[in-house]
Amino acid sequence: MTGVTDDAFPVLGTVPGQELATAFLRQAAARPHHAYLFAGPEGGGKQQAARAFAAALLCKRGGCGECRDCRLALEDRHPNEVVVEPEGRDIHVETVRSEIWHPAYRTSPEPGRKVFVIREADRLNPSAADVLLKVLEEPPADAVLMLLSARPDELPETILSRCHVVSFRPLSESFVARALEAEGIEAGRALLAARLAGGNLGRARRLGSGTDGLAFRETAREALDRVSHGPAGAIEAAELVLAAAERYRKDLGTELESELAPFLDERGRPEDAYRGAIRRLEERHKRQVRRAERDYVDRVLLGVSALVRDRVAIAVGGGPDVLMNPDLELEATDVAAAAAAMASVEDARAALAEDLNLNTRLVLEQAFLGIARAA
Ligand SMILES: [Zn+2]
Repeated sequence: MTGVTDDAFPVLGTVPGQELATAFLRQAAARPHHAYLFAGPEGGGKQQAARAFAAALLCKRGGCGECRDCRLALEDRHPNEVVVEPEGRDIHVETVRSEIWHPAYRTSPEPGRKVFVIREADRLNPSAADVLLKVLEEPPADAVLMLLSARPDELPETILSRCHVVSFRPLSESFVARALEAEGIEAGRALLAARLAGGNLGRARRLGSGTDGLAFRETAREALDRVSHGPAGAIEAAELVLAAAERYRKDLGTELESELAPFLDERGRPEDAYRGAIRRLEERHKRQVRRAERDYVDRVLLGVSALVRDRVAIAVGGGPDVLMNPDLELEATDVAAAAAAMASVEDARAALAEDLNLNTRLVLEQAFLGIARAA
């Protein structure tokens, strides 16, 4: 292949720490194959790379990073792009049929390629994988599919064999902190976000940026403070976390609504060509809003766990370099009580991740009562 230099596809240069993967994608963007599998651990930047690759494929200038096509692709809302992700535990067959199979063989809303992104592709259930396989067997000329997975071995061989594999490596905590700093996040906050996110780049970026950023940690601190007052305080703590999660959900809903604006006419009605794209965006927004409460509660529980862990570290004489919240003044705690508290929190997180029908309030109350009893 000729003419692919470092200057081509500038948008792909914005993915940190994955030089091999992005070098491969630069080559690929010049003459794309039908399907790619982005394989690598959670938090290595697969999603960011998928957005950048989508921009390179949809931009008329090959991924300048600045035009309308690039901007929309980088925000997952280009009308020619479909993003599919699990609902509950699986990606269902109806989703693949309506979001991938049908649109793949139809004319795209805007001239140019069609791009399909399947997140956590290992969660395609068997019948969903069968429908996807049909598309991979007879790929439309103008479509490019990206499958993302941290567990590529769990994908059916028939699907794997039709994808070009792009490998992503795990990133270290210090690398993630430096990457956030390079994006303009203040050094202390970048390190804190990287540490709390366990070196997961995407999560660290969400924690480190935006006004919401570390608000969850304040909620976690307040909750722990209430819990220290016994069982009544534990019930209050659950209430406090739910109220914060509800505020988060509302803000997210408002934010998502504004994303539809570019595809509406001056009366706020969808323009014809965009009906399908708008419907998909709305569906995705609904799913995100439905998940928002759980996501936020999980973040708070993670924050609680990190605070308790730090108190143990202080009790056994650990310095700031081993703390997850090195910027806070925390008191030492009893090690046995802390272990029981962390177990309560982990039980709650596992229960909420496993069963979408559980009553969040009850799970939180149980977790906080567990911590109060342990103290
Ligand atoms: Zn562009």
